[in-house]
Amino acid sequence: MQNFYLKMHGIKVTIFEKHNKLGGILRYGIPEFRLEPEVLDKWLENLLDENIQVCCNKKLGENIFLDELQKEYDAIFLSFGANISCKMNISGEDLNGVIGANELLEYKNFPDFSGKKVAVIGGGNVAIDTARTVKRLGASNVTIVYRRNEEQMPAEKEEIEFAKTEQIEFLFKTNIIKILGNEKNNVNKIECIKTELIKKDGQDRLIPINVENSNFFVDTDYVIMAVGSKTSEGLLGKLNLETSKWGYVLTDENYKTSIDGVFAGGDLIGTKATVAWAARNGRDAAKEITHYLSKKLTIIK
Ligand SMILES: Cc1cc2nc3c(=O)[nH]c(=O)nc-3n(C[C@H](O)[C@H](O)[C@H](O)COP(=O)(O)OP(=O)(O)OC[C@H]3O[C@@H](n4cnc5c(N)ncnc54)[C@H](O)[C@@H]3O)c2cc1C
Repeated sequence: MQNFYLKMHGIKVTIFEKHNKLGGILRYGIPEFRLEPEVLDKWLENLLDENIQVCCNKKLGENIFLDELQKEYDAIFLSFGANISCKMNISGEDLNGVIGANELLEYKNFPDFSGKKVAVIGGGNVAIDTARTVKRLGASNVTIVYRRNEEQMPAEKEEIEFAKTEQIEFLFKTNIIKILGNEKNNVNKIECIKTELIKKDGQDRLIPINVENSNFFVDTDYVIMAVGSKTSEGLLGKLNLETSKWGYVLTDENYKTSIDGVFAGGDLIGTKATVAWAARNGRDAAKEITHYLSKKLTIIK
């Protein structure tokens, strides 16, 4: 999407993408029952033309490198997202059967969920999409464990309703504090604790606080973590870009990073993680890049 706006400004663009098709999370994340790939294909077909060159199976940091791109291009826009599942840093997270939701949906390396009990931790779109996917793959019991209540779930309301009609269960106001396994190191239960929600000065959202002695156990075969996502620390390290304290690429209000000629937008810079915001970043960054290029070319003249 970001590159479409650059093209509109008359700039020749090359897109480098690590997968073998374009689409980002819309193709490699959001499940097909929510967004059919044919819809995306049609949309891309209308967007792409001879001014946009597409190079798939090119992974920044592995088979293309920033310094090479800097030599070849007048400006670079980074928008490689933030699709790596965060961890909770609780005991048992390294057991077999604990899976990151983002990776599960992106790479579709599904274990055999048939007849299994699955706990999905989180309350956003990723948690709901994961729960609905796993249910379709035959899991007998799928429970979403969320530390706040239903009204505060960041997921789309419609999606929550769909999940309920698909017999997905919800444990609200519940925190997971430990994952337990059997002698083979396979997950077999989670320890949870009830929460209460309190108002803190200066905070818009209610804060969940664990209620003492309210611990209980839930039997489960898999635990899928959908508690947020981050960008690749390894890749950021290679790029030598300044980052924010939350680990996103730092930009100024014009989408400029700490390296001249390198811009960034979308989930990578930590704006609201929605499709609309990523597209908006792309539109605004394209204007800034156009401005930057016109100044640069004037100086060269
Ligand atoms: C399961 C799920 C459900 C969601 N549901 C919704 C929803 O209902 N509504 C909504 O508004 N938002 C939703 N979101 C969030 C939304 O999809 C993102 O905010 C949006 O896609 C971000 O766009 P982006 O272009 O910044 O990054 P992405 O869409 O992540 O695109 C990044 C692209 O960079 C590529 N890439 C990554 N690393 C490299 C590399 N090293 N080299 C080359 N290419 C690379 C990726 O393959 C990808 O194509 C959902 C996200 C997920 C994971």
